[in-house]
Amino acid sequence: MADFDIAIAGAGAVGMSCALWVQMRGHKVLLMDPEPPGSGTSYGNACTLATYACLPVNDPSVLTSLPQLMFSRDSPLSLSYAHALRNPRWMLSFLANCRAAPSRRIAGHLADLLAHADAGINPLIEAAGAQDLVVERGQLSVWSTGKAAKAAAAGLERRRALGVPWREVDPEEALEMEPGLHLPVKRAVHFHAARHLRDPLEFITRMHRAFADLGGTTLRAKAETVRASDTGVELQAGGQSLTAGHAVIASGAFSTQIKGAGTQKLPLGTERGYHVMYESEGHRVTRPVGWGEAGFYAVPHAKGLRLTGTVEIAALDAPANPRRLDYLVRKGAEMLGSLPDPDSDWLGYRPTMPDSLPVIGRSPQSDRVIHAFGHQHIGLTLGGITGRLVADLAEGRQPNVDLAPFAADRAFA
Ligand SMILES: Cc1cc2nc3c(=O)[nH]c(=O)nc-3n(C[C@H](O)[C@H](O)[C@H](O)COP(=O)(O)OP(=O)(O)OC[C@H]3O[C@@H](n4cnc5c(N)ncnc54)[C@H](O)[C@@H]3O)c2cc1C
Repeated sequence: MADFDIAIAGAGAVGMSCALWVQMRGHKVLLMDPEPPGSGTSYGNACTLATYACLPVNDPSVLTSLPQLMFSRDSPLSLSYAHALRNPRWMLSFLANCRAAPSRRIAGHLADLLAHADAGINPLIEAAGAQDLVVERGQLSVWSTGKAAKAAAAGLERRRALGVPWREVDPEEALEMEPGLHLPVKRAVHFHAARHLRDPLEFITRMHRAFADLGGTTLRAKAETVRASDTGVELQAGGQSLTAGHAVIASGAFSTQIKGAGTQKLPLGTERGYHVMYESEGHRVTRPVGWGEAGFYAVPHAKGLRLTGTVEIAALDAPANPRRLDYLVRKGAEMLGSLPDPDSDWLGYRPTMPDSLPVIGRSPQSDRVIHAFGHQHIGLTLGGITGRLVADLAEGRQPNVDLAPFAADRAFA
């Protein structure tokens, strides 16, 4: 008999959600991570349950404005050329997916999955006793130039066509909703169905507590190798050899580093993102506010104001880029007026496939290995539904979401 029914590698928003879902269904579960639960990329994000975020970064506008995006000091996107040259497969595929047809197809698949996001996370919020961490004030998106407001129109209509609810807010009302804004608002939109978490780390910590209370086991170790057979998997982790009925690979941007899990050849990249925290400034906004052309959010986190976002295409092991932090500090003052020096800063690694779709499903090499990674900008939002789908797969049930678009062996362009 195997040591565990299900062994999960990674305790971020995705892995922790998988662990709690399968534990709630009564399985014997092992959760492995060398770091404390929720301390990776899931720690520092924009806290938003962003059910509206179905438009991928892969957008035709990236192709037309690439030079301007990359060479401007004020660009929310930056690219390490050395990294791009070392990773031509990811880079070329990412750009190919920016063409109109693939971009539209990706948005449709993301919208389909996002439509289940609340149903996936709500039972976890309840099981974790985390209702007090959830704030129902929506997300406000603002644009400060007429040109950017106009450019946003097509994307907003595409969202509406995909079933995402939003409401036009006139600039005066936007400033009433968020009086801390110092921008000349040209257009504002309220995604009223969105919610945010006061503190994602606290949410994951409480999920972990619920998991342990239900009998789940945690091992503070890295999963190194997986060997699958017809009857189960054998894992090497932290010098130990363990057996389980199924292994779940949910190690975010590091998911291709586990040997034998059918992930090593997948084109998983990372979109690095940053945050700066101002402990005494949490009152500046009352909900996540995204500044469209600047590519970041101001968020009221339980521990202060968090300015977070931007995209940096660079290596996982490259040092933090001080220019990216300087950008957030400068633009933050433009958005909200003068701010003190930040109290802390952070760099995280969005796990991103070149088509911006996550990998959720059984490994093409073995039904005993389940993949759950690559959630790019929306892993906090999609962790819950991913966990429920993984639980269905591990139990041999037919999930109620079509997983074909998220298969590891799909064509990435
Ligand atoms: C700036 C920024 C803002 C964001 N804002 C939002 C937002 O508002 N809403 C939203 O939904 N998403 C947001 N995201 C995206 C979201 O944070 C990620 O998609 C999500 O955190 C990914 O979760 P994960 O569990 O896959 O990865 P992680 O949180 O990185 O967790 C992976 C875990 O795996 C562990 N691990 C690594 N290797 C191994 C191994 N071999 N064995 C065992 N464990 C291992 C790591 O230690 C880590 O704990 C944002 C991201 C960034 C960077």
